[in-house]
Amino acid sequence: MLRAKLFVGGRSCDAAGGQELNIVNPADETLLGVASSATREDVNAAVAAAKEALESWGSSSGKERAAVLRAIADSVEKHKDSLAEKEALNAGKPIQEAAWDMDDVAACFRHHAGLAEALEERQGKVVDVGMQEFSVRMFWEPVGVVGLIVPWNYPLLMAAWKVAAALAAGCTIVLKPSELTPFTAYDLAVYAFQEAKLPAGVLNVLPGLGPDCGGPLSEHPDVEKIAFTGSVPTGSRIMAACARDIRNVSLELGGKSPIVVFEDADVEKAVEWIMFGIFWTNGQICSATSRAIIHEDIAPRVFARLKQEAEKVAYIGPIICKSQYDKVLNYIESGKQEGATLLCGGGRPENVANKGFYIAPTVFTNVQPSMRIWKEEIFGPVLAATTFKTEAEAIALANDTWAGLASAGSPLLWSFLTADQDRSMRMARKFKCGIVWVNCSQPCFCQVPWGGVRKSGFGRDNGEYGLESFLEAKQVTEYKSSEPWEMFSLLFDL
Ligand code: NAD
Repeated sequence: MLRAKLFVGGRSCDAAGGQELNIVNPADETLLGVASSATREDVNAAVAAAKEALESWGSSSGKERAAVLRAIADSVEKHKDSLAEKEALNAGKPIQEAAWDMDDVAACFRHHAGLAEALEERQGKVVDVGMQEFSVRMFWEPVGVVGLIVPWNYPLLMAAWKVAAALAAGCTIVLKPSELTPFTAYDLAVYAFQEAKLPAGVLNVLPGLGPDCGGPLSEHPDVEKIAFTGSVPTGSRIMAACARDIRNVSLELGGKSPIVVFEDADVEKAVEWIMFGIFWTNGQICSATSRAIIHEDIAPRVFARLKQEAEKVAYIGPIICKSQYDKVLNYIESGKQEGATLLCGGGRPENVANKGFYIAPTVFTNVQPSMRIWKEEIFGPVLAATTFKTEAEAIALANDTWAGLASAGSPLLWSFLTADQDRSMRMARKFKCGIVWVNCSQPCFCQVPWGGVRKSGFGRDNGEYGLESFLEAKQVTEYKSSEPWEMFSLLFDL
């Protein structure tokens, strides 16, 4: 039985109110473990601990913070097998995928160690303002106590993107993992404190429900910034809470991303990338390329091969929970009722046991832009495909979900496949989105910024840009001249 407690001020503890959450194994619906469930009182305690730790951690050197970040990476590597096993069981992932996620987590901490050192080097940078009387220098200071609220699809990796950047910047943290996947975030805090010598109070972890724990965290006046990854409606709520006190917020939200296949693309490669783009992590990725827009000359071959390949994959793994499972089945039903053609999949796979939240890889063709499966974020292994004739038509279709949609913001990313180099750059520069993938779908690197525009959110994780979002720029301007300034005498002719 897995167990996650709260981790506050360097101590594991139960929730003040004694509440607990039962965590279900999505593969067989048995009880996988129990997590303490934090509420407002626990949020207050965790924020107080983070506030107390801020002065020391916030004024530590980049080199000191880098050493801790590297030690955290070492710990993640040391415990890789158990962390990966917990995530595989908890999030319903194949064990290899969960193991890769842990490699990415460790790499993320190592990369941010380098960024912490580089930050130190630019402190006090002189800026030429074109007036000799003034010396201007720049400093970057940590934002302060930050609240990090993350989803369940990559439980530790989504947390690591934010935790590593916040630590590198010198912020102290209250991290709220998803109520569905609380275990590895708790482990991370314990390892960071016990093995990597992260000081008490710098990283506090509160498993708990969104409204009971995430809500009070996003409203807390001592939390200077909320960095959130999750759905559009929750992001909107968090932004409203931060708006009340004019507090900093960054949002990584949902998507409904297109993958466009031009007529000159290689069919076999196209099929592989289309499948990877929608079936990787069971389609439960913000960046899933869930709308395929295929040139009509190549479409019959692409669809025929897609059907063959998708049907070979009997099932991928379970969907995270019952409500998400029902939601995905409901979308599949809507696709059938609204008249899309079911190419393959379409429900529970035949060869799985009665228990577990399994859905067969599903592809709809002849999808119309008015259909829900085209417009809304499904967050499951369901691809909505259509065809196009001209480049202009492809762009119009891909951009089709931008306006007037409540549920999804497509401009997280674009993916397209073509052999035409000129077209590649022309298209890549044209799109209004955060990420463009050319001749691929889903590669993701901690060295480069990740995030979207419009309803997919704002701000970025990863890369120097991600670190920046946990820093405040401060200019220090000094009058250097021994002469009097004499502004008034000049202006008023005194
Ligand atoms: P969610 O919005 O339901 O929950 C995300 C987190 O917010 C959880 O920790 C949850 O407990 C918390 N939360 C819920 N209500 C809250 C409230 N009122 N106040 C504060 N916190 C609250 O999202 P989810 O179902 O966990 O994740 C799926 C969504 O996340 C999808 O829309 C997906 O596209 C998005 N996502 C985006 C990215 C990205 O990088 N853009 C990455 C992964 C997932």
